[in-house]
Amino acid sequence: MSKVINYYLFAPNLYLYIRNFNNLFAMKKWIVSFWSLFFPPCCVVCGRVLLDGEAHLCTSCNMDMPRTYFHLQEGNVAEQLFWGRIPIVRAASYFFYTKGSRFKNLLYDLKYHDNKELGYFMGRNMAKELQPTAFFEGIDVILPVPLHPARKRKRGYNQSELIARGVSHVSGVPVDVLSLYREVNSSTQTRKSTFERWENVEKVFALHPSCDFSNKHILLVDDVLTTGSSLWRVHRCLLLIRMYASAC
Ligand SMILES: [Zn+2]
Repeated sequence: MSKVINYYLFAPNLYLYIRNFNNLFAMKKWIVSFWSLFFPPCCVVCGRVLLDGEAHLCTSCNMDMPRTYFHLQEGNVAEQLFWGRIPIVRAASYFFYTKGSRFKNLLYDLKYHDNKELGYFMGRNMAKELQPTAFFEGIDVILPVPLHPARKRKRGYNQSELIARGVSHVSGVPVDVLSLYREVNSSTQTRKSTFERWENVEKVFALHPSCDFSNKHILLVDDVLTTGSSLWRVHRCLLLIRMYASAC
């Protein structure tokens, strides 16, 4: 008897959504709401259940995030990494990553836990904070630092591209994911010394012959900024006169 009642109560909703199947957005929203009854979304940093209006990060962790505020400092540390190497105009980085910090979860979730939406979310949030400083003025195109196709296939996405798309959503600057590509599948950079990192990315990137970036101002986006070696190698590939760089 109870089985019949349950079926009867549930069926009208099911019917309604099947009728509106064309509206995939509504369908997705319904599934997410249903799912979240049993598996509520949690803050990726502290694990607390998120409140209405929060996404990925709880308000407390968002406020505590160790932001660099580089975009407010001319000649900041990120820019200094490129001095003498790239004729850079501006460089910024969203937050400090320190060993043992609970904010490392942001990167782990983005890179290794298939949390694609987090990349887009971080890119969008960073861009919202950069925009009032006119950081995006004069930029023609955004280039995310590419992964090698084999690695992208394995991971399923390029985290730098997700960040770039979030930045693009706020800034209105288009993202180009076709012109720049990675020729060599270099091994992971995380355990290499500074010198090895610079050596390791030598001649790793290439541009499709048909693309022309002459007189263009480019924003390069990478997920992590350590020695700046990847961005420098991309620059060598682009041979630009002026350049902007950014990393989360
Ligand atoms: Zn939190």
